Amino acid sequence: GKSMKLHIGSSCLIRIRISSSKRLCRVLRAEYSQLERLHWPIQHKTPLIYGDIAPSKSRNAVPCTATGCKWPKSGDYVYIPVYISSSYTSAERNIIIRGLVSFHSSTCIRFVWRTSHVDYLYFYSGTGCWSYLGRQGGLQAVSLRNNGCLYHSTVQHEVSHALGFHHEQVRSDRDSYVQVLPQNIIPGYEHNFEKIQTNNLGTPYDFNSVMHYTKYAFSKNGQPTLLSKANPSLDFGRATSMSANDIARINKLYGCSE
Ligand SMILES: [Zn+2]
Repeated sequence: GKSMKLHIGSSCLIRIRISSSKRLCRVLRAEYSQLERLHWPIQHKTPLIYGDIAPSKSRNAVPCTATGCKWPKSGDYVYIPVYISSSYTSAERNIIIRGLVSFHSSTCIRFVWRTSHVDYLYFYSGTGCWSYLGRQGGLQAVSLRNNGCLYHSTVQHEVSHALGFHHEQVRSDRDSYVQVLPQNIIPGYEHNFEKIQTNNLGTPYDFNSVMHYTKYAFSKNGQPTLLSKANPSLDFGRATSMSANDIARINKLYGCSE
């Protein structure tokens, strides 16, 4: 049968203890079959906004806007429970885990295995690469299709959405840095390029952000949909990992101490 690979090498994703003496990774194993059945119906049913950001579910519980859609901080760290679908191979799982762990070394975000946590990220191979924006409450899907989305930068990108971050090219100050060419955008996808009132947290516009689209995103004709105003020949949006600004933003939004 399927085996759960809960370890990288010989260590858990993160070694913290919950109220009981059981390690998080041990508890997760027991819930596996139940969780898979619970998660099955959500596949293939989520429409998207902004290309890879799923619209929020309406909820009668505490709306995430009350807390800015941030994940709660506990002491010095922001613990975010995760569950990774067992449909991934161990190699695929490890790409996701490596992406998650990369936040540990540069921010105060700490991903923990979901046990009985109410709010958590559920990684699964859905219809493409997409995420919700900020904490939604409850099971929060992050789709990383096994064929096409399992790259370090893509994991970081979708997780950054879940932390509350928009695409770089829709920043409130983007008009000073980037030109949108609507004549080259696939009809119906123009909304992906609409400017948004974002909190830029004092960090500069960054073409090397892991959240920046490529020059040819949603192009209908192979021509650019975005151009750098300072340097129209600049190629961008090909970050292979989070930039220093991406990391600084996370640390500012979540009040991580140095
Ligand atoms: Zn995105």
